[in-house]
Amino acid sequence: MNFLEDFKINLQGQYEECRAYREICKREGFNPYRDLNTEEDLENVPFVTTTLYKRSNGVFTNLLRKPIQDIYKWTVSSSTSGDPSIVGRTDDDINSLRKFVLEDEMRHKKDRDFECTFFPHSEDMKAYGRGKLYGKILESYLGNLVDIYTYLDDTIYLLKPSENGFNVDVNSFIGYINEHNKKEHKAALGGSTPIFFSTILRLKENIKPVELGNSAFVHTGGGGWDGRKGNINIGTFIERWRFVEEVSRFLGIPEENFTDTYSFTENSFTFTGHYSRDYKDYLFHVPEFARVIVRDFKPLKTVEGGGHGFIRVLDAYGTSAFAGASVLVDDIGEVISYNKCPDCGYSGMVIKIIGRVKGAEAKGCGATLGGDGYEANYKRL
Ligand SMILES: [Zn+2]
Repeated sequence: MNFLEDFKINLQGQYEECRAYREICKREGFNPYRDLNTEEDLENVPFVTTTLYKRSNGVFTNLLRKPIQDIYKWTVSSSTSGDPSIVGRTDDDINSLRKFVLEDEMRHKKDRDFECTFFPHSEDMKAYGRGKLYGKILESYLGNLVDIYTYLDDTIYLLKPSENGFNVDVNSFIGYINEHNKKEHKAALGGSTPIFFSTILRLKENIKPVELGNSAFVHTGGGGWDGRKGNINIGTFIERWRFVEEVSRFLGIPEENFTDTYSFTENSFTFTGHYSRDYKDYLFHVPEFARVIVRDFKPLKTVEGGGHGFIRVLDAYGTSAFAGASVLVDDIGEVISYNKCPDCGYSGMVIKIIGRVKGAEAKGCGATLGGDGYEANYKRL
């Protein structure tokens, strides 16, 4: 695997097959055959912003690299605003996603004998909100990720389908933590952060803390740190250190046994961070099969280190159906190191994820991302 070579092939394909992306490149005077020769050149690769994939922009079909009949399915984000991102994928793209998600899972996976998760079963999750668009299946992106994760045969799925979505099976959760209390079992807990957190906050008012011990661990995923996910809204932003401290204290699991996985619908892999007591945050390892560039708000220059800015992800694989080779996410990240994890020694880039762009920064971002004029340009394509 040679990232630069593979990325170049992917980007050239995207340039050939997606007229909208070719127009962006032309406007920025960038030609992927001429201007992409070294790792330093990656900096200059034009990007597509994730907001362009939103249904309301009406241009997600223009961001395809293939005719709609060659798409296998649409994957859709779990939107709180009712304006989800819609990304078309081929069968190959789903297989590639599977490969890289499993790779990320293996790297961070801990041995387990028991497991409960604040996710629904993947079949229920994929079925929820499933629809058809231009004759192709439309499914939750997160449901497709959960479908890839490996679970035990007797994993307890705490989110049960109900009339309005999903209900938390609190009794099963209480049963689970009591069963493993003070046993030092290899007990896994995971799933959706806001649902996990709100359940713990509620329970700690009514029942005594448990001691699951050093062999238990918590692995969350699917975002929702702003307190919202799909139709869930716990009404408050969740500070990562607070989640870890509260849950660690209530369940009696060491803080260093907490991990979280990051992804977004326009991406073709996941990456996982482990909690660091020193940083009071999750440190995310960027895998060697992708690149992350953190760009300052104005004028979107790469930050030198220690600074924070927009996260831009470069994908060499798994984007054969959509313009996903170079994507600017509306999440803010901070570079911890370009080459080594200060906590565990992982050699590679390490970042913190601070959160979604909002308020004044969002306004600034609208301007730097080109704002209305920029998006209007795409609409005309
Ligand atoms: Zn590390």
